[in-house]
Amino acid sequence: MAISHDDFHSRTGSQVMTKSVLVTGSSRGIGKAIALRLAKEGYQVVLHCRNNQEAAEQTLAEIRTTGGDGRILRFDISDRSQSAQVLQQDIEANEAYYGVICNAGLARDAAFPALTEADWDDVIHTNLDGFYNVLHPIVMPMVRRRSPGRIITLSSVSGLMGNRGQVNYSAAKAGIIGASKALAVELAKRKITVNCVAPGLIETEMVEQVQLDEALKMIPLRRMGKAEEVAGLVSYLCSDDAAYITRQVISINGGML
Ligand code: NDP
Repeated sequence: MAISHDDFHSRTGSQVMTKSVLVTGSSRGIGKAIALRLAKEGYQVVLHCRNNQEAAEQTLAEIRTTGGDGRILRFDISDRSQSAQVLQQDIEANEAYYGVICNAGLARDAAFPALTEADWDDVIHTNLDGFYNVLHPIVMPMVRRRSPGRIITLSSVSGLMGNRGQVNYSAAKAGIIGASKALAVELAKRKITVNCVAPGLIETEMVEQVQLDEALKMIPLRRMGKAEEVAGLVSYLCSDDAAYITRQVISINGGML
C-alpha cells in the first residue's frame, strides 16, 4: 500500500517532523518484522528489548541499510518502575510518540494442574501488567501532542477462544482485549485510536515447541502465518487510512476462528 508523505510526517509550524513509533519486543519475531516494515515506510522506529540487545542492534542495523533510523530502549515490561523511568527519559530527550505497538510478550504453557505459580505470574506480569507499565507513562505525552496517534496491542487467538495448556496466556491476552477497548473509548476524542491485533499461529521462536501437524488441522489455510503478514496489518492500522478504526480486535489467523 502506498503511504503518502503526509501520512508519516506531521507539521509543526514550518517544521516537518518524522513520526516516531515505539515497538516493544522488536529484537526478534513479530516485533522485528513490524519495526522493519514501519521503518521502510518512513517512521522513526524506537526499538525495544529486554535481554537480547545484540538482536535489537541487528534490527537497527538492518533499518539503517535501507536508509531508515531509530534507537533502542532496553527494559523489562513487567518491571513498572524501570519501564516508567526509561520511557519518561526517552520522551523527554526526544519527543512523544505518534504510535506505540505493545508487542512484547511471552508464553509459559502447561496443562492447568501443572501450571506453576511462576508460570502464572510471569505471563500475567509480562503480558497484562506490561500493558499498564508501557502505556501509562506514554499516554499523556501522546495526548499533549494534540495530533492523531495510534496504539496497537498484540492479543492472540488464544485470548479470543481459550487454548488448551494456555490458561495463563489466554487470561492475559483476553485481558489485553478489554483494556484496549476501554482505552480506545477514553482516547477517541483525542484522535488516538487503540486497536488490538489477534494473531493465530505465526512462525517465530515462540511457537517452536508447537506440534505442527495437530495445529495445522485447525487452520483452514493450512499453514502458519508469517511475521511480515502481521507487520502489514499493523502498518495499515498505523496509517491515515485507518483513522476511523478504533476499539477493534482484528484477527490474522488463517481462518482458525
Ligand atoms: P518472540 O518470543 O519471538 O519475541 C518476543 C519479544 O518480546 C522479544 O523481543 C523479547 O525480548 C520481548 N519480551 C519478552 N518478554 C519481555 C519482557 N518481560 N520485557 C521486555 N521485552 C520482553 O515472540 P513473537 O514475536 O512470537 O510474539 C510477539 C507478540 O505476538 C507476543 O505478544 C505474542 O504473545 C503475540 N502472539 C504471537 C503468536 C505467535 O504465534 N508467534 C500468536 C499470537 C500472539 P528479548 O529478545 O530481549 O527477550
